[in-house]
Amino acid sequence: MGDESGAGMRIENALIIDTSNLAGRDLEVKCSWKAVRFPLLKELASGRQLFFPRPVELSLAIKAEQDLVRASGRMVTAVQLDCSRCLEKFDLLIDQSLELVYQPAASAVEPEEDEVELTAEQIELIAFEDSKIDLRQAVAEQVILAIPIKPLCSPQCKGLCPHCGMNLNLGPCHCPARRPTGPFAGLKVLLDGGGSD
Ligand SMILES: [Zn+2]
Ligand SMILES: [Zn+2]
Repeated sequence: MGDESGAGMRIENALIIDTSNLAGRDLEVKCSWKAVRFPLLKELASGRQLFFPRPVELSLAIKAEQDLVRASGRMVTAVQLDCSRCLEKFDLLIDQSLELVYQPAASAVEPEEDEVELTAEQIELIAFEDSKIDLRQAVAEQVILAIPIKPLCSPQCKGLCPHCGMNLNLGPCHCPARRPTGPFAGLKVLLDGGGSD
């Protein structure tokens, strides 16, 4: 960002980052790695549970803050999913901000009730060893968390006809219009003048 001289910003494209010489200057991580470089994603991809049609792009600023190391920025990737309404495959773009906070394993105290006061907003601290932070696990977890439980190819997805199973996004099917159901359905038919189509 900008052209500050002196405390120059180094740029890395690694997923495991040595933080031992961060010392007051930010480190910028810009990288694009195939999903298989993330063990958790590789596992899901090889089990054919998920398919990643594009790499995971990271653009992060790494900062040392006292004992902690903060990685904040953005991640962009995509995952192929089945729409929960029409069952068609589609690519879900994942483009979101990322905020990871790492804590040296050595200084990670066993949480004692009265000592550590975690607020609801407080970000989970990720332990790291040997001054190296490993972005792979936390980033992969964020990718997984970004996948909705009921994915939709579009918010307007019309789904499948419950009678003939046709994908209604492709056009109307030839099933007769559905009759109204429910306790007042008969009344509605009467008010409509007798079951017009
Ligand atoms: Zn759909
Ligand atoms: Zn139909």
